[in-house]
Amino acid sequence: MSQTNEKDVTEQAFEEKVASVEEVLFSQEEEGAGVDEVEDDIRPTDIVFDCPHCGHNLAIDYRGAGLQTRCVECGEMIQVPIPEGMKLSDLDLNPGELLTQLFQTRRMLAKCEQRVVELEESLNSLKLRRSELEKSRISTLHRCAELVNLCQACMKQNAEASATLNRILSLVSEEQQL
Ligand SMILES: [Zn+2]
Repeated sequence: MSQTNEKDVTEQAFEEKVASVEEVLFSQEEEGAGVDEVEDDIRPTDIVFDCPHCGHNLAIDYRGAGLQTRCVECGEMIQVPIPEGMKLSDLDLNPGELLTQLFQTRRMLAKCEQRVVELEESLNSLKLRRSELEKSRISTLHRCAELVNLCQACMKQNAEASATLNRILSLVSEEQQL
């Protein structure tokens, strides 16, 4: 019981820390560190890229490289690309910003791990479905082969019946000619 309370207190402290970090991030966005419309002034240090969901052209401050944010056009979560050749030292961040980015990265990692679990589950269910379909396909092939055999047996009997009928007819016509 006391352990649970201790954990709650730790989690509460963590949430408060996250909230304060979000405050820092939010104020940065107001200063123009967030995603902007490309039509606005683009600084030479901005990262310019297209939203992978809607294709909208976006520009973000270079300090946002690798971070997750929402597209201003479609609202989907997107990851800001990290430009080729960009180094960690290029960021020249203060400890607060580094902490913000660390939290962002951890959240992103947690989301990615959750997504991996979901994708693995979906892969397993697809594999199961595929093996069920394969079994059903094989059973259908067996039934088709059985039906073909039955059809061939019918045709054979039909041919025998025709031959017998022809034989009877020829006997009748022999009788008629006598
Ligand atoms: Zn978008």
